[in-house]
Amino acid sequence: MKRWILAAAIVGAVAFGAWWIRQPTPTLYRGGPIVTLDADNRIAAALLVVGDRIAAVGSLEDVRGAAPRGVREVDLAGRALLPGFIDAHSHFPGSGIFEVYVDLNSPPIGTVVNFEDLADRLARKLATTAAGDWVVGMGYDDTLLSERRHPTREDLDRVSREHPLVVWHVSGHVAVLNSAGLAALGITAETPDPEGGVIRRRPGSREPDGILEESATDLVEAGVPRPTFWQGIGIARAASRDYAAHGVTTAQNGWADAQLLQGLPWLSRLGVVSQRLVLWPTAAMAEEIAAGEFDFGRWDERWVRLGAVKLIADGSIQSYTGYLSEPYFVPPGDDPAYRGYPRIPRADLFAQVERFHRQGWQLAIHGNGDAAIDDILDAIAHAFEVAPRADARPILVHAQMARDDQLDRMRALGVIPSFFSLHTYYWGDRHREIFMGPVRAARMSPAKSALDRSLRFTLHTDSPVVPMEPLRLVSAAVNRLSSSGVPIGAAQRIGVVEALRAITIDAAYQHFEEEEKGSLEVGKFADLVVLSESPLAHPDALDAIRVEETIIGGRTVYRAP
Ligand SMILES: [Zn+2]
Repeated sequence: MKRWILAAAIVGAVAFGAWWIRQPTPTLYRGGPIVTLDADNRIAAALLVVGDRIAAVGSLEDVRGAAPRGVREVDLAGRALLPGFIDAHSHFPGSGIFEVYVDLNSPPIGTVVNFEDLADRLARKLATTAAGDWVVGMGYDDTLLSERRHPTREDLDRVSREHPLVVWHVSGHVAVLNSAGLAALGITAETPDPEGGVIRRRPGSREPDGILEESATDLVEAGVPRPTFWQGIGIARAASRDYAAHGVTTAQNGWADAQLLQGLPWLSRLGVVSQRLVLWPTAAMAEEIAAGEFDFGRWDERWVRLGAVKLIADGSIQSYTGYLSEPYFVPPGDDPAYRGYPRIPRADLFAQVERFHRQGWQLAIHGNGDAAIDDILDAIAHAFEVAPRADARPILVHAQMARDDQLDRMRALGVIPSFFSLHTYYWGDRHREIFMGPVRAARMSPAKSALDRSLRFTLHTDSPVVPMEPLRLVSAAVNRLSSSGVPIGAAQRIGVVEALRAITIDAAYQHFEEEEKGSLEVGKFADLVVLSESPLAHPDALDAIRVEETIIGGRTVYRAP
C-alpha cells in the first residue's frame, strides 16, 4: 500500500508539472450556435476561453474585442457548443469495469439472451483465470433472458464447480453465487438473513439457492476480492475515455468506499482521469470521516470534491425490491399483496438522516418506490425540524415513482429529485407490463410534473447500470419512448432545453457548483462539448447527434476520430 502511494506521488508530481506548463492557447469559438444555458437560455455567436476559464460570451464583434493577441479562432462550421455534461449520478469508474469483469448485459446494451450465452461468457473468462480465483459477471437482466428468471447456484455450478462465481443483476441490487462462491463466503443454511436483505433458499429448505437480495449482497462486496490497484488504473482509464467520448466533463461516484475515496483522487492527479470528480461516500465511510477515523486528504477542489453522503432506502423496481405503497402489477411470487420492502427500517432511516444532517453532510438518498419516498421525505422533514440548516439541498436519487403530493413536499423541503429517465427507454415496456402496470408506468420519473411545480431536478444514467450516454438520456426525458418504440407516459415529456439544463446547470446546482460550471458564462470553467448539430433543432433525433469534441478547463480531452 505505502509503496504505491509513494510511486503515485512521484509520477503525479511530474505529470502535474507537465500539465501546468502546457497552458492552453486562448481560443475563440464562432460559426455555430453557442447554447449557453444561462438564466435566459441565450444562444451566443462567440465564446472566448483564456486559461481554464470562459473569458467572454456574446456577439462576435464584442468577443473579438475582448480577445488577447495571438488568439486561436475555431470555426464551429454549424456545429453546436454547449456546457460540458455534468453527471448528476453514476458510479464512475464503473463503466470501465468490463476491463476486468464479464459483461452479461442483454440487448440493446449487450448480447446475452439466455443462460447458455451467460454460461458461455463466463466460461471464456474462466479459461484465462487461475484455478480457484473468482470470476465476476455483471449486468444480467432476468426479464430479458429467455428463461425469465434469475440464474441459481445450480445454473452457475454447471459453469464451474472449482472457481467461485458471482453474477450481479443489472440493478446491482441482486447477486447470484455458485456453490464454490457460497462456500468461499461462508454462506450456509445456518446464515440468517441480514436486516434489509434476503438470502433466498431452496423450496422447503434452509439451503441457499445462490440468490442474494439487497443488504445480503454486502456479503459479496465484503468477501470477493476487489480489482487490484493496477486493474483499477485500467478501469478508470477506460471509464474516463468513455465519459469524455460522451461529452461528460464532471463525473460522479454515488457509492464511494475506502478504496475509491483513496484511489480516485490520485488517478485524477495522475491524469488517468480527465474529468472533474464529485464523490459521495457510503454511509459507513461518512461515519468514519465524521469521526476522524478516515482522512480523505486535501485535494484541489476544482478537480476532486467530497459531495453528499449516500443512503439507500429501498431497492429497484425491476428486481422487485423497490418499496411501493400499492402492490406490484404482476407479483413475483404467490403473494398478490407483495409491495417490496425498505432496505433501511424507518426508525433507522430517521436516525441516520438526522445524524448526518447534524454533522453538516448534504444528503443523497436512493428511493424508487413511493413508500420508500414517503419514509425519506418524513425523515428529511424531521431532521430539518430538529436541526434547521439553510440551503441543505438534499437529493432524492431516482424518485422513480414519486407522486404529485410527494413532489409538492420536495418543493417545500428544497429536495432535488434526480430522475433516472432512461428507465422509460430500457425498462419502459416491462414496467408497463410487469412491475408497475400502465397507470403507474406512465408517470414514472415525472419530470414534467416537477417542472410544473418549478421543482429543480436533475437527470442521470446511473452508469454502469446503463451506458453513459447523456444525449440518449435527454432523448428519454424528451421523447419517453421504450426501446420497442412505445410511448411511456407522453404527458411527462419535457422540452430539450429543460432536459439539457438538468444535465448541466441544474446538475451543477445539485453539486453546489453552479457558480463554477454548468453554463457558458464569464468566469466559469471552460468545460465544453462540441456536438455535430444543435440538440434544439432535432428533438426527435437526439441520439443521432455525435459528440465531436470534449474540452475540460480549456484542454481538449476527446476529439471524434
Ligand atoms: Zn446508483
